[in-house]
Amino acid sequence: MENASTPLDEVRANIARAAAIAGREADAITLVAISKTHPADRILPLLEAGQTVFGENRVQEAQTKWPELRERYPAAELHLVGQLQSNKADDAVELFDCVHSLDRPSLVGALAKAMDKADRRVPCFIQVNIGAEEQKGGCALSDLPDLLAQARAADVPVIGLMCVPPLEIEPAPFFALLDKLARDHGLAGRSMGMSGDYETAILMGATHVRIGSALFGDRS
Ligand SMILES: *Cc1c(COP(=O)(O)O)cnc(C)c1O
Repeated sequence: MENASTPLDEVRANIARAAAIAGREADAITLVAISKTHPADRILPLLEAGQTVFGENRVQEAQTKWPELRERYPAAELHLVGQLQSNKADDAVELFDCVHSLDRPSLVGALAKAMDKADRRVPCFIQVNIGAEEQKGGCALSDLPDLLAQARAADVPVIGLMCVPPLEIEPAPFFALLDKLARDHGLAGRSMGMSGDYETAILMGATHVRIGSALFGDRS
């Protein structure tokens, strides 16, 4: 079994293949390994294999798992991909290196305050409710210009847009729309694509793919 390829090897190979088809460099795409619900002993093998960027969706869970892991792997980078409550902004700014879920004016205010207090600017993606779904997080498409202007005015660094397209529909048109919105607003980052659709997302311009179950198996 020594040379058996791991899920991480396979995901990396798939990313490289999709990038090649798209005529892009594989290292223009950041693999964010989504380790939510998985304990530290499942995360360690990936760190040992050289994976550096990880994502969690809950501040509290990340606070219990990551300080120790980061002590052992100081190069590890931690991204927040889940909804953030304004009252957790201080904790988030302290713990995370990137936030993918900036979605409303009140959070811009809370993050700006937290970043001022910590004297640390954390790069953010604005999450867009790309399918205009009632239950989904993310700002409405029509609110994006104002939210972006507010973030820029508050010195909250916005590096791109993020989306989670509707389930059970072909995602490519939603990825194309996010790509266009990012271009229209002069943003380089596109956080899109999960275990089921990251190769499509890369073809449509993803710069960050957020992959959980393809790396760790199903979440119980
Ligand atoms: C859980 C999660 C992912 C990873 O999903 P998989 O289908 O397991 O790859 C990506 N993005 C967000 C926002 C998530 O909450």
